[in-house]
Amino acid sequence: MLIDSHAHITFAEYSDDLEDVIKRSFASNTQIINASNNYETSVQAVELAEKYDGMWALVGCHPDDLRSDLDIEKYKRLAQSSNKVIGIGEVGLDYYRLGENADQIMRKQKEVFELFIKLALDLNLPLVLHCRGTKDDSYGAYDEMLEILTGSADGSTKLAMTASPGVIHCYGGNLEQAKKFLDLGFYIGITGIVTFKNAKELQQIVREIPLDKILVETDAPFLAPEPFRGQRNEPAYVKYVARKIADLKELAFDEVVKQTYNNTRKLFRF
Ligand SMILES: [Zn+2]
Repeated sequence: MLIDSHAHITFAEYSDDLEDVIKRSFASNTQIINASNNYETSVQAVELAEKYDGMWALVGCHPDDLRSDLDIEKYKRLAQSSNKVIGIGEVGLDYYRLGENADQIMRKQKEVFELFIKLALDLNLPLVLHCRGTKDDSYGAYDEMLEILTGSADGSTKLAMTASPGVIHCYGGNLEQAKKFLDLGFYIGITGIVTFKNAKELQQIVREIPLDKILVETDAPFLAPEPFRGQRNEPAYVKYVARKIADLKELAFDEVVKQTYNNTRKLFRF
């Protein structure tokens, strides 16, 4: 059994053929965790998870989707409404398209991120982190995120109380930062980017980090792996990510499938 640990099949890209996408996923022995980018998709993810076995939901708000009126209590109630909600995400920092008022937006993102960290700790649910730096500095946001998570930003020790705090999805930091996330107990989420020819650094990171800390994901509809690069992605394609990881680590495909499935279940406790 495979599991796509991070997909967005609630997105409009699937409005015409959602049932087929789900069927193809289950037909290729692939279960699905739906990540959410705002309150509306969180509600949809919960509804889908309630409807299907082999499907679970995350509740959260993407840093690109923040509105001034974010009501954390609403997210809390939704997260508590179903036992198919297995994590809080995706949440974090995204500095890629800041534009005007950059400082203000970054401050807001950090504020909301802190709220979601607190929510995850309150509900004892793992965090699914999103982190993307600026166009000129892809790693800076990862350092800032590590500071927030360790509490060094405000002197607290937020995550010390959980052994397995979550996953950093679609990993895009460097190896040194990956080791820091591992030290904090985080898993590392690997998408189809790892199959791209120019992803040399990520491929090296995959070779170096332990298989028992890796989750596979599609981030569908984005980031379709080779040989589908540029097309709409879907959960059934997560096997191409697992295959590439097997190649890079010189392991059997089945071993990668089995271990990443177990990792995902262990992290999300289902
Ligand atoms: Zn995502």
